[in-house]
Parts: sequence; structure tokens; C-alpha cells
Amino acid sequence: MANKTEPTTRKKHKFIFYLWYILKKVYGLNPILSIAFFAFALISSFLPQVESFTLGKMIDAAVKTITPSTTSAANVQSFMFILIVASAILLTDKFIYDINNFVIQLFALRNQNTRDLIGFQATLKAKVHYFEDPDFVRLKSKVDGNGFKISQIIMSLTTVITSFISAGVIIAIFSAYDWRIVLMAIVSLILPIVINLKFGKQVWGIWDSMSEEKVIYSKYRNYLFMDSPSHFTEMKVFGYGKYLLNTALHLNKIFVDKLEVNERKRLLFTMLSRLWEFAFTVAGFYYVFALLINGRVSVGQFFFVVTLFQSMRSIVSYAFEQLTTVLSDGAFFETFYDYLNFVPRVQVPNGTKNIDVTNGVEIEFKDVSFKYPGTEKMVLKDVSFKIPANKDIALVGKNGAGKTTLIKLMLRAYDPTKGSILINGQNIKELELDEYYKRIGILSQDFMTFEFKAWENIFIGDVDKPMTMINIVEAAKKAKADEFIQNYPKQYETYLARDITDGTNPSGGQWQRLAIARVFYRDPKLIILDEPTSAIDALAEEQIFTNIREFAKEKTIVMVSHRFATVKKADFIYVIDDGQIVEQGTHEELADRTGTLYSRMFHSQND
Ligand code: ADP
Repeated sequence: MANKTEPTTRKKHKFIFYLWYILKKVYGLNPILSIAFFAFALISSFLPQVESFTLGKMIDAAVKTITPSTTSAANVQSFMFILIVASAILLTDKFIYDINNFVIQLFALRNQNTRDLIGFQATLKAKVHYFEDPDFVRLKSKVDGNGFKISQIIMSLTTVITSFISAGVIIAIFSAYDWRIVLMAIVSLILPIVINLKFGKQVWGIWDSMSEEKVIYSKYRNYLFMDSPSHFTEMKVFGYGKYLLNTALHLNKIFVDKLEVNERKRLLFTMLSRLWEFAFTVAGFYYVFALLINGRVSVGQFFFVVTLFQSMRSIVSYAFEQLTTVLSDGAFFETFYDYLNFVPRVQVPNGTKNIDVTNGVEIEFKDVSFKYPGTEKMVLKDVSFKIPANKDIALVGKNGAGKTTLIKLMLRAYDPTKGSILINGQNIKELELDEYYKRIGILSQDFMTFEFKAWENIFIGDVDKPMTMINIVEAAKKAKADEFIQNYPKQYETYLARDITDGTNPSGGQWQRLAIARVFYRDPKLIILDEPTSAIDALAEEQIFTNIREFAKEKTIVMVSHRFATVKKADFIYVIDDGQIVEQGTHEELADRTGTLYSRMFHSQND
């Protein structure tokens, strides 16, 4: 049997490929800002050099004015001129520095939601069957947890690039004085660079090798940040809060310990590399001093070269620090790329055809057998049955019988392993899925509860339809939701969230009625109900179902339910057991038979 969690085989690329891919995406979101960001970062990286060059010129001019042989009114004047020019340059530098900071802020602000913009667009493009694939879910959770890093990594990357450019320019300036300075500068950097790279790569390796552990850690941790009162009560009563915390801390410690060992070693080696750097720096200084003594450089040039020597080292070591961030966090870019370009294990290619639903939606299963990908067991075996248009059908059976699987196939989360499913006579594989979904309203056991305004919870059932309060209230009335919404502090304008002023927290049954109102509002041709009313009391349920049936006269309803009070009113019932249809008929026909699965289940609830 194939391993279910085996990742999809996909092409691996070089790190630089992923980096370039994300850079292009980010650039695409904000082209002008991205160029400005890079340009200002580059210009700013030259500011210290420009400043020390200017100061060097000023020093030379000052020296001329105080050296007895060259003292003259003209030299004082030229000093004053240089002073004014230097001040103007220094002020411009500061302005550029300020604008650069502004651009950085703007870039950070605008890219805060990069993950949302890029990642969420990918989620919207995903198909129902992607979420059935554990690889996709895994990638999604990594992207959700780390997406915030994108703009941070891009900023670090910019620093790395601009720093290297400016270090290169400094080295080029040295060569204008003497090639030996260039040599000393480069040699002084070799050891720090090797050490930085080695440890940076190790940090990267630790992050990469433990990324699954990070996900597991955040699972334990996230439960501690719950905000649901019932979840909190459960945690208090069971008393497992401490367990969650300790497990989370323990998992984090394994991770942190590894990084700590790496950091300790890094400190030791970095300090050693400082000695190396120090030796070459002193030699460099001394060499420039020798040039000064020999009259090959002026005092101002001496100042300029020595400052460059000093600043080059800080530029390069900062660049390497940032490179570590890029290498360690940038591994996430691969995850992001894989998420955006996800290829599911099981392909469910979209069709092109639309169905005519003027006369409703009819569903037919023809000899359908199905096993889940990566497993061997047939969970549906040669299932053939028909759900006629505008009829109300119930699927009943024990847990694990295959009811939800049938519904997943109707929604094309998977294709049958064998056999076919016809929707109004058309093979489901040929249908254009988004168009098909437009015909469907669905309500499952764990439906969505939106902490938005009450009306939005209903409106969201069909966002393509122009919103009218009349339609919303009508849907709410049919779902018996209007009565409690009227009692909310701001009626339909009330936020269904306790942490918003005048917000409220609907009960489980109220949420279900809102979800049912959503389906009413959508007014679909096919309604799929997968145990939708478990939190509603029997009386209200009966009323709601009377309304659903009344409303659904010209609709097909497929319902999975354990409640026989609801099931028995269906037009037709299919009993599923172990992946097969074992009985079918109306309630009266099925309940009267003795010893059958249906009658046993029915009587166990009603006797
Ligand atoms: P029901 O809805 O009737 O309770 P299901 O359709 O959920 O039953 O499950 C039918 C069978 O398929 C069960 O044996 C279940 O374990 C198996 N099954 C359900 N989902 C998956 C899955 N994603 N991968 C593998 N097996 C699954």
C-alpha cells in the first residue's frame, strides 16, 4: 500500500530560482515602489563614502590654510567654499537618508499583506480536491504561518545586494590608490566571510530540517491562544492547559537548543575571525600611513581611505548577517512556490460544459466504485442509484458507511475509481465546475460561522446577487432566524462577535439557522445537507424542514441525517451500508420491514 503522506514528487529548483520567483511576484504587486525601494537602498549605501570623501576634502583645505607655506586669503576662501559645498552634500545625504527611511516604511506597510495578496489568490484558485490532498494542507499551513516573512526577507536581500555593490565600489576606490590596499582589504574579509557563510548555512539547515517540528509546535501553541469560551471551559475542566504549554515549550526547546549550540560555536569562530580581521586592518592602516609619510596621499585622502577601510568591514559583516536571514528564512520561498504552483496527487481536470437546470437537477450514479488515493479499500462498491430532479432524498447508514464519500463525489472532490456520475445526463467530468457549483447550496455539519454582521452571514450565500434587505429578511424568516436577529442589539447590523461593540454570540442552533438562511438566500437548484441541524431542537428542526421542503418544491435535496423525524419525511430514502446501497424506498416501505438495517435504526431511535 502506498504511503498516504508521501509527498508529491515535484521538481526541485535551485535556491536562487525560488528567490527570483518571489521577487518577481512582489515586484508585480508594486512595481514603482519596488524600484524606488531598491534605488534608494543603493544610493543610501554610498552615502557614508560620499560623506567621508567630502570630509577628507575639507580636511585637506583646512590643512592648507594652517600650513605656513600655503596660508593665503585665497586658500581661506576656498576652504569656505568647500565648507559650503560639503555642508550642502551632507544635508543632501541626510535628506536621502530620510527619504530612504520613508520608502522602507512604505514598502514594509504595503507589503504587509503580500502573503494575503499572493497566497490568498492562490487559495482562491485551488480546487475542492486540493484540500483533500494532505500535501496541499501541509503547504498551506506553512504558508499561513510564515507568510509574514516575505517582506522581511526581501528587505534583507536588498541590503545584501546593495552592501555588496557598495563594498565592490570601495574596493575599486582603493585600487585608485594602491593595489596592496585592495589585497589587504580582500584578505581581511576572507575569514569572516567563510565563517559567516558556514554558520548561516547551518542555521538554514536547522530551520529546514525542523520545519515539520515547527508546524507541530505551533499546533500545541495555537490551542493556548483560543478565544472560544467553550474551548476554554473544556481546557479548564480537563485541566490540560499545563500539558499543552509544557509540550509546546518542550518542542520549542529542542529547536532552540540546536540553534543555541550553533550560535555558541558561531560566537567562538567569529571572535577568532576578528583577530584575523584586526591584523589586516592594522596592516592596512599602517600601509596608508606609509603612503601619507611618502607624500603619496594627503591628510584628507588618508582620512578617506582609513574610514573606507573601516566602513567596508562593517558593511560586509552586516551584509552577511542579512544573508543569514535570507538563507534561513528564504528556504520558506520554496514552500511558497510549491504552494502557488501546487500540483495535486490526484488530478480532477475541469470540464467545459454547462447543464440546463430549467427542469431541476437530476443526479445518477452508475456502477460507481471508489477508493481513496493511496488506499486499497473500496469504500463504495458498484453503487447505482438515481436522485430525480426536484425530489427530496435522504441517505442513511451507520458511521463509515460511505455517505460523506458519496457527497464528495457529487461535488467532484474526487472522480470515481470506476463507473460514472451523471448530472442531468451529463458526465460530471465534463462540467465546468464553477458553473456547476453555482447551482448548489451546501450545508454541512461544520459549516462556516462568520463573525461579521448578521445580514452578511446570509448575503454571503450569493455574493453575485445585488444585496437587498428584503431578500435577506425573507431568507432569514424561512430559516427561523429573523425572530432572534430582531432581538439582537442592532438587529441585522449586529456583529456576530463578542469582541465588537454591541456584538453578540449566537448559540449553536442560531448559527445553524443563519447557515440555512444562507442556503435559502442562494436559492440553488440542488441542496446538499450533511447533518445540518444537529444543534437545533427537534421542534425547530421540524419547522425548518417544513420550510426547506416548501421552499424546495422545485429543487433537489440530498440529505444525510441521523434524525429519523427528518429522514422519514423525505420523498425517497437510500440506506447505505459498507459502501453499498442495501435498501431503498419511502419511510413507510422501509420501516415496515422487519430485521432490516433501516427498521432497526429507526426503532432504536423511536422505541
Ligand atoms: P460516512 O459519511 O457514512 O460516515 P465516509 O464516507 O466518511 O462515511 O467514510 C467511508 C469510508 O471511507 C470509511 O471507512 C472511512 O474510514 C473512509 N475514508 C473517509 N475519508 C477518507 C480519506 N480521506 N482517506 C481514506 N479513507 C477515507
